[in-house]
Amino acid sequence: MNTQEIPYKIYLEESEMPAHWYNVRADMENKPAPLLNPETLKPMTLEELEHVFCTELAKQELDDTTPYFEIPQEIREFYRMYRPSPLVRAYCLEKKLDTPAKIYYKFEGNNTSGSHKLNSAIAQAYYAKKQGLKGVTTETGAGQWGTALSMACSYFDLDCRVYMVKCSYEQKPFRREVMRTYGAAVTPSPSETTEVGKKILAEHPGTAGSLGCAISEAVEAATATEGYRYVLGSVLSQVLLHQTVIGLETKAALDKYEIVPDMIIGCAGGGSNLGGLISPFMGEVLRGERNYQIIAVEPVSCPSLTRGKYAYDFCDTGRVCPLAKMYTLGSGFIPSPNHAGGLRYHGMSSVLSQLYHDGLMEARSVTQTEVFQAAQQFARIEGILPAPESSHAIRAAIDEALKCKETGEEKTIVFGLTGTGYFDMYAYQRFNDGEMTDYVPTDEDLKPGFDSLPAL
Ligand SMILES: *Cc1c(COP(=O)(O)O)cnc(C)c1O
Repeated sequence: MNTQEIPYKIYLEESEMPAHWYNVRADMENKPAPLLNPETLKPMTLEELEHVFCTELAKQELDDTTPYFEIPQEIREFYRMYRPSPLVRAYCLEKKLDTPAKIYYKFEGNNTSGSHKLNSAIAQAYYAKKQGLKGVTTETGAGQWGTALSMACSYFDLDCRVYMVKCSYEQKPFRREVMRTYGAAVTPSPSETTEVGKKILAEHPGTAGSLGCAISEAVEAATATEGYRYVLGSVLSQVLLHQTVIGLETKAALDKYEIVPDMIIGCAGGGSNLGGLISPFMGEVLRGERNYQIIAVEPVSCPSLTRGKYAYDFCDTGRVCPLAKMYTLGSGFIPSPNHAGGLRYHGMSSVLSQLYHDGLMEARSVTQTEVFQAAQQFARIEGILPAPESSHAIRAAIDEALKCKETGEEKTIVFGLTGTGYFDMYAYQRFNDGEMTDYVPTDEDLKPGFDSLPAL
């Protein structure tokens, strides 16, 4: 097809939007290893998972065989308010880079939460409501997940309690106020409202909190309160399933113009957006229909795929969640304090971990100054101010396009632009002031995290 015929933005009609999520596990020969009960070390049963998670979500979590899950009508109606998201041909970036590569990005930032997280938040809130629950609890670090969940809960009239890492609660007051505007109760963590919070405060008075500690508080609050369950914004297979709406729309839009990508790139924190973006393409690879180069991009300062171990580990620092087999730096791992680019989680989705282990995708790590350079370049050319997380994918896409410039190859590159960066202006400020530095952890730095791995 003539390049000129491909529009800047490829939209789908409402009738072309996906009616099902695709469960890539169904096509995997080597299934991801099961979640284990941390006490018995046996695979988690539905009954055990139901205490913490909504029943329907627990079923999705355990299902390795059903290829398609119908997206309930109520969720599709909500999706229609901000989806389909555009697949954008980055003509201006291509021109600026003077590359023969064709670059496309799937933009998920066009909703108030500013990221793809709303795709799963609305699904999780829907199943909680359908089960007749009163509310849900969760943790949030930087605040994107908490914001998405508050939006979803207010839509379904559910109570939403967010434990927000204390230093973020203080440093990101606007995120906090967005959540409160949507009706969520936001508690700085650690807090006096839970036993685990009181314990941590007694041991470490004045602590700034951590994600692991906020998870432990949120899980305690859910299990100790009648009619509440705990929900999580990444890592779990159910979240990856909901996020396949990204990949399915991308594939439908590309198919419309008979475009076949050579390369699919995404940033990887817990792995949900990348897993969702690549799932339909990976399905083709797994069924032997086609091949793609698939690249996960992570920060040098939190390198779970590129330097982690493939092992069973705790999903949270508080060690209350099930054990998952994944590429991990150990639940005790804490990224260097100068790290500003997000994607701080110590582990990786067990689905992506298995695919990576089987050689079906690649991973690379990038430094934060390289990431912010790419973010700035992208903002100046394509207009969108990207989230630092998303900018990891931008970095790799630009690098690949520049390689094409040298070799003359006309590769088609698709990357996931997961969100906008308006609440990350302190990080941008450090970059703009020339004060951002890189720190590559030494093996010595990674050792305490690996030492925290459970001996199984
Ligand atoms: C949370 C987040 C990510 C990383 O999470 P994944 O589960 O790895 O997708 C990436 N980009 C943005 C904008 C986010 O908010």
